[in-house]
Amino acid sequence: MLYSHIGMARNNNNTPPSNSGSSKGDLENLTARFEKLKLVNMAMWTFIKEKFEITEEQLIERYKEIDMIDGSSDGKLKVGIKKCTKCGKTLNPKFEKCAYCGAVKSFGTIFEAI
Ligand SMILES: [Zn+2]
Repeated sequence: MLYSHIGMARNNNNTPPSNSGSSKGDLENLTARFEKLKLVNMAMWTFIKEKFEITEEQLIERYKEIDMIDGSSDGKLKVGIKKCTKCGKTLNPKFEKCAYCGAVKSFGTIFEAI
């Protein structure tokens, strides 16, 4: 497979993640996946800064602007409580559909779906 050396959706054993792992195993798996995501982001950044001639300072400034979208400069983007656009009831972030009326959630940006 083209991306097999990256192994983004796999753990270190190259097997699908299971729900029976220990907390330590889950943490190790998450840490490994985080490190891989960081590498992919760094690789993408090298292409983007070359293609669009963006500096590291501009990236940091944009990071700070986006961090402030939720009103707090804390390195996190807190997602507020969402209401169903069809029935108006509070949506559970764990589900892709409204638990009350079944409407599929809509997102302002793709990052709200993560
Ligand atoms: Zn609903």
